[in-house]
Formats: sequence, C-alpha cells, structure tokens
Amino acid sequence: MIRLSKSVIGKEEIQAVTRILQNEFLGMGDEVQKFEQELSFFFGRNAVCVSSGTAAIQLALQAAGIGHGDEVLVQSLTYLATFQAISATGATPVSCDVYEDTFTIDLQFAESKLNSKTKAIIPVHYASNVGNLNDVYKFAEQYNLRVIEDAAHAFGTYYKGKVIGSFGDIACFSFDGIKNITSGEGGTVVSNDLKITEKVKNLRLLGVEKDSEKRYKNKRSWDIKVSEQGWRYHMSNIMAAIGRTQLKKFSTFKTKRQQLAKQYIQRLSNIKSIRVFNFDFDDVVPHIFVVRILTKQRDEVRELLNKRGIQTGIHYKPNHLLAYYKSDYSLPNTEKFYSEIITLPLHSDLSHEEVDYICDTLNSIIDK
Ligand SMILES: *Cc1c(COP(=O)(O)O)cnc(C)c1O
Repeated sequence: MIRLSKSVIGKEEIQAVTRILQNEFLGMGDEVQKFEQELSFFFGRNAVCVSSGTAAIQLALQAAGIGHGDEVLVQSLTYLATFQAISATGATPVSCDVYEDTFTIDLQFAESKLNSKTKAIIPVHYASNVGNLNDVYKFAEQYNLRVIEDAAHAFGTYYKGKVIGSFGDIACFSFDGIKNITSGEGGTVVSNDLKITEKVKNLRLLGVEKDSEKRYKNKRSWDIKVSEQGWRYHMSNIMAAIGRTQLKKFSTFKTKRQQLAKQYIQRLSNIKSIRVFNFDFDDVVPHIFVVRILTKQRDEVRELLNKRGIQTGIHYKPNHLLAYYKSDYSLPNTEKFYSEIITLPLHSDLSHEEVDYICDTLNSIIDK
C-alpha cells in the first residue's frame, strides 16, 4: 500500500528522544526553549511552542482578546481543528466560501458576513498555498480585524520572497505527525507582537505568570500568580527534541516534497478531466497534493485507486456541513469542490517511481 502521508523518522530523532529519556526530564524544560530559539531564528520573530496546532490557534485568539460574543471569519474548507479552536474561545466561526483558483478565503464573501461582532479573520493556507495574502491583510486593515494565519500546511512556504510567519500579524503552525516537519504532536505561535507571544507563554501553562522562564531553567513556580483562564497546552522536551531534529532536516524534506509535486503537475496537468493546482513549487512547500476529478464519481475513483494499492484522502469535509457548525446559507464553490477533490499520496519518503505508478493508475481509471 502506498500511504497517503506518514511521519518520516530516522536514527537522529530516535537518538534525540533517547537523550531526553536518559535525562529523565520529559516535560517542558530547556529543550523547548532551544527549539523556540531555533524557530525564532528561522522566522526572524518570536515563536512560542504549544502542544498542537489547534492549541496554537486557540491561544493566539485568546491572547488577541477574542472570545465570547465575537465572530471570526474563516473558510469552511479547512480541517475541523480551525473551527474547534475558534469555538473553544467562546467565539463563533463564520463560514466563508473560497476562490476557485486558490481555495483561499473569498474576501467578497467574507465582506458580506461582516458585522460589529467581527474581530478577526483566519486565512487558511490550504495545500500550502497562501493565495493573495496581501489582500487579506488589506481587508483586515480596512475593517480593523486581527489576522491569525492558519499556516498548519505552510511551514517553509515563501510568499513574495518572505517565509510564511516572518511577516504579518500572527501565524500558527502545526507539528503533528504528518506535517512538513513534526515534533510528534505540537505547534507554534509566531508573531512580532510581544503582547501576544508573552500572553501565549502564560496561557499554555495554566495562566501562571512567567512560569515559562522558570521551566526553561528546568524549574517550576511555587508562589504563583494567576489572573485569567489558562490551559495545559505546553510542549514537552520529548516533542521539542523531535522537532529540533526535524528542523535540521527541513531543507531535504522541502526539496523532496517540491520535486514530487512538480512531477505530479507534469504528469497530470494535461489530463482533461483532472484539475491540478499549479502553484509555484519553488516557493510552496506542499503538505498535501489535491486534485479535482471533473468527469467521474470521486468516490469511485478513490475506491479503484485503493484496489490498486494507493491510499487517498479528502481534505476536507466542509465545516459548514457539520451539525455543530451548520450554516443557514450555502457556499457554492466549497460544496462543488468537496464533491470533486481527492488528495494523492505525498510525503518525503515517497519515491518518483511511486508517483509515476499513481499517475499511470489514475490515468487508466479516468480513461475508462
Ligand atoms: C493539522 C492542522 C491543524 C491543527 O494542527 P494539530 O497540530 O493537528 O492540532 C489546523 N489546521 C489545519 C489546516 C491543519 O491541517
């Protein structure tokens, strides 16, 4: 079976985890601080590590003062995590449609959903592409909104010569097992706004003020000060050790993912009944490779691929179709795309021969 996605782990990660285990200090300590320093260097901005990408978005929103009674504009076509992170703060996610060519948030649609409760917009860098991110920032400035980028797919992606996270308001990344780099589970909040990053540092440790500084020295606070609701969302030394090792390998992962995407594009872009996203894969570091099937039943194609040993996915079931987030309006592009999309295998252990096999197989299925 060719896997849709997987963690890519070598002896370096095993050694790093073993080193932490042998120290017998598994929780949040100096290893997390080192990972944060390395990430801050990578982004050129402060990075605060948390237990997941979902936690990163939730805490970024809370740190920005967004909560009960507020509304957050977000595309429906995203992982459930984006929506759950918003509703966890007490705010309401407002489902928006996406543009046809980029699958990024449709700003005209978003504009139609604005009201006095709207406090933020979350652009989701779907399939690692950020669309016209400058327009999102212009929109946010015009309507006085915070921008929290869901950059879970976009670690290492460049936009107009700058790496995502190195500019803008707040960017949230995920290091779950299958993302561009992993720390087992984990995430990070990146921002230039010290009020945000300092607050996230407290919120991840039950709201205990300045506890992070203690933990970095492998200590804890005893005479604690708490003035708000916090969470147990910190990162552990074990996770940070995996993350640090993966960060060192990132340039290899990046090249491989980009080469595989370019190969897919080359093999599939001339097939009439398939639409690919022809992003610039010198800038974009693809986390998933999504195609649209225009002529045949998507589910039938998936089943036939599965029979030939190729695992595929559907990213994602739109959130406005879920009972918990059901909207009383429809999202035409999102709903149309949802019936067409298939995610093909992509991870940095995938071989070029496997991509050829996947393309040949897909071609023969579509032809029939
Ligand atoms: C992975 C992901 C998240 C959440 O990250 P976790 O680390 O799994 O909590 C959020 N948004 C998107 C688009 C994702 O793909």
